[in-house]
Amino acid sequence: MIPINRPWIDEEEKKEVMKVLDENILTSASREGGKRVQEFENSLKDFLNVKHVISVNSGTAALHAALLSIGIKSGDEVLLPSFTFVATANSVIATGAKPVFVDINKKDYTIDTQDLRKKITNRTKAIIPVHLYGHPADLNEIIDISNSFSLDIIEDACQSLGSTYKDKHTGTFGKLGCFSLYASKVLTSGEGGAVSTNDDNIADILKMIRNHGMVEGYDTRIFGLNYRLPEISAAIAKIQMKKIKNILEVRRKNSILLSNLLEKFIEQIKTLKIPEEDHIKKFNWYLYTLCFLGTKDSLLREHIKKKLIENGIGIAIYYDPPVHLTPYYRKFGFEGLLPSTEWASKCVLSLPVHPFVSETDIEQIADLLKKELSIFQ
Ligand SMILES: *Cc1c(COP(=O)(O)O)cnc(C)c1O
Repeated sequence: MIPINRPWIDEEEKKEVMKVLDENILTSASREGGKRVQEFENSLKDFLNVKHVISVNSGTAALHAALLSIGIKSGDEVLLPSFTFVATANSVIATGAKPVFVDINKKDYTIDTQDLRKKITNRTKAIIPVHLYGHPADLNEIIDISNSFSLDIIEDACQSLGSTYKDKHTGTFGKLGCFSLYASKVLTSGEGGAVSTNDDNIADILKMIRNHGMVEGYDTRIFGLNYRLPEISAAIAKIQMKKIKNILEVRRKNSILLSNLLEKFIEQIKTLKIPEEDHIKKFNWYLYTLCFLGTKDSLLREHIKKKLIENGIGIAIYYDPPVHLTPYYRKFGFEGLLPSTEWASKCVLSLPVHPFVSETDIEQIADLLKKELSIFQ
């Protein structure tokens, strides 16, 4: 089975982990963090071209810390899509604020800027655009809206490390950008995360938040938690950064091959939509997400899903149900109010394009899709 994603670990990561164990310094509660933590932060900072990167121990921690750092609290409202991993919404709940779900656009499944405007109230404090599947959200419009209404932007770039918008990295447009180093992500340390910002003051606050609000010893100055990235994880992440360009290149190569193989076919049948970049949005190709059109229910998708799995292709559906239809979030009352989100949750299907997927695998995937979709015509 080709998994939907798979970490790329070489000898160098293993050696660096062994070094940490030999040195026997497994973590550091100092303000700046341990040696590998700092090395990883510097290399991600250079890659993104931002002033500060503060590592934490998950993408969820990154989002929660980011929200805390700008003072989001009970009584505030935060705008975010429901078509995301639940961590985006859970981090808002963790601050006591209210998540207000915004619909998505049907083009690339990122937050719908028209619906975004409609959802602003005098309690709204922040927007969390999610660069889902590595597709950059409509940052130009989102920044316009944030300026008009004095709202902060926290980008959920957990899936979009390496994606760019107008040649600038996602996660560097908002006041803060949040990244995940979970095992399935483009770059991993097993579990881990990072926050990026160009704001010196916020960077200082984040370093406190990840360390129980402490600065020098037991002097808790603000509310914080233990969000420190362990040195073993930082060691893996630091080495992974050396091959980030390579990782992104192979993903791109696989995705372009798949698109080329499907392109002519798509002109004939009208039931399949493939992901498309434009001159502004460049993807990291974290996932290659298809959408099956023209069917009211998910019959066609379920058929294709079954066939791909039977043939050893580890597809995934991100996300069905969307957050607002999960048992916990239903009580917020958004059912039926996010039509494009509910539509997408029934039509999307993501394919693996990670560096362990070969050209032959891609050809097999394309052939299978063509065969099964032709039968369904
Ligand atoms: C993975 C992910 C997160 C959370 O990251 P963790 O490291 O798993 O906590 C948040 N948002 C999105 C969109 C994600 O894909």
